[in-house]
Amino acid sequence: MQTLRMILGDQLTDSIAALDDLDPAHDRVLMAEVRDECTYVRHHKKKIVLVLSAMRHFADRLRARGVTVEYVAFDDAGNTHSLRGEMLRAVRRLKPKRIVVTEAGEWRLMQDMIGWQEAAGLPVEIVGDTRFLCSHGQFRHWAEGRRELRMEFFYREMRRRHGVLMEGDAPAGGRWNFDAENRKRMPRDMQPPLPPQFQPDAITASVIQLVEREFGSHFGTTAHFDLPVTHEQAMLALDHFVSERLASFGDWQDFMRTGDPVLFHALISTSMNCGLLDPLVACRAAEQAWADGGAPLNAVEGFIRQILGWREYVRGIYWLRMPEYGEGNALEARRALPWFYWSAETKMNCMAQAIGDTRKNAYAHHIQRLMITGNFALLAGLDPDQVDEWYMIVYADAYQWVEMPNVRGMALFADGGVMGSKPYAASGAYINRMSDYCAGCAYDVKRATGDGACPFNFLYWDFIARHRQRLEANHRMAMPVRTLSKMDPGRVEAMRSQAADFLSSLNSASPGAVASPS
Ligand code: FAD
Ligand code: SF4
Repeated sequence: MQTLRMILGDQLTDSIAALDDLDPAHDRVLMAEVRDECTYVRHHKKKIVLVLSAMRHFADRLRARGVTVEYVAFDDAGNTHSLRGEMLRAVRRLKPKRIVVTEAGEWRLMQDMIGWQEAAGLPVEIVGDTRFLCSHGQFRHWAEGRRELRMEFFYREMRRRHGVLMEGDAPAGGRWNFDAENRKRMPRDMQPPLPPQFQPDAITASVIQLVEREFGSHFGTTAHFDLPVTHEQAMLALDHFVSERLASFGDWQDFMRTGDPVLFHALISTSMNCGLLDPLVACRAAEQAWADGGAPLNAVEGFIRQILGWREYVRGIYWLRMPEYGEGNALEARRALPWFYWSAETKMNCMAQAIGDTRKNAYAHHIQRLMITGNFALLAGLDPDQVDEWYMIVYADAYQWVEMPNVRGMALFADGGVMGSKPYAASGAYINRMSDYCAGCAYDVKRATGDGACPFNFLYWDFIARHRQRLEANHRMAMPVRTLSKMDPGRVEAMRSQAADFLSSLNSASPGAVASPS
């Protein structure tokens, strides 16, 4: 045997670099289901079902191409339950001349992979992940010498480099960004078309049994699992989004509605992040819909910006700044994560809805993650390590390279402003404007003090007062700081004391020790 090619659970792509010069007659592909990867954080049950089922389907796909796959199933005798252990076992069994593997998406695994050559005693070639549209080197080059690493400028360069939504050297429609047109409130009677649901086949059904048996105490539920687990299903999901929901994606991108977490969102992050869907294919499909008159520019540009811009940018930041990025706590937030992040048992309806959706679906859309659970964590001063771990656990699309910058950078400002020019702090007024949550809440969104006052209101002003000195220096936060200065000191004192009482009444839970209700 010549070359052992290793494919990880988030590398399920036909064109993955490790298979580039595959010789099916002499090479073998190694794939392994290992406990370590299911438990380094206690992932949502649906995330484990997704990855293990997609791996099993991908192995079948390779076999259909004539590739010999050494597949180590979870229950196989001798499974060491670590990727390094399975690599070493395969080396002993198959005696390859070399190993080829695509670089890992996460820092911790990449650090381990770097030691594989020495451990295996044979050449281990770690090749770059060409599925991303910006390499590490290109991002470093872009970042070099810049005072601020703003996504908007990175995004423009990506549009130019990949020729997406360009008219010559100029952006299509004369503007790079149509976000200002994307913050509408959705009419009550509007019914977004439901996304396609992919019923579990025999492979997925057996993985569900495995997950219930092995990871029954993890957060969430396996019930109603319907995520794409093959490339074909991921393409169907994309096609359905482009034809049925993309046209309205822009207008109501920021809106949140009770009982409807998806609205006009694409629901494709789980597929892109494990390799079932190519990000450039998704961008091109949206661009084509605009060219054909099927979707307006504000929607298409907004969608493409998320993928070509944000997705690539957060990965760039992660690899540029790790491992220090994972330690940032610029606002010195130290409060423990409250128990209701696991149980959804809180009188704050917005939090109960966002956490309830998350527990059920391993999904919440961007604004629920940023402006509800993220915003609360920011205002309440929750410890970034615990919040970071929560987000890694609860979403089916969570991989550290994308989760961490979104959480520590965008939501918590724990990186001190590497990603965002200001903290995304908002009071209840924002949530009321962009959702229907407040109408069904025990709290009164119009009140900032006293009985029934909305916690987001007094926590918001407490946050501004607590960080006043730092925020004063930030021109984008000048307005709330000025408003605070003009407020009656007695009122400020009342809000701050209510915030202190509220925060000290929260029950915390140690993350990781989550025997949560499903
Ligand atoms: P849509 O809203 O339809 O957007 C289309 C695609 O754009 C997404 O599939 C995603 O690939 C990409 N995208 C959009 N926003 C971002 C962003 N800020 N960063 C990176 N890609 C983006 N995304 C993850 O994939 N994994 C995570 O673990 C994750 N954690 C997050 C945590 C927080 C606190 C926040 C604020 C955002 C997080 N995001 C994460 C980004 C975003 O919320 C999800 O990508 C999105 O909700 C996925 O749903 P969708 O496919 O329906 O996306
Ligand atoms: Fe959330 Fe406050 Fe609205 Fe209740 S009133 S849903 S706590 S913002």
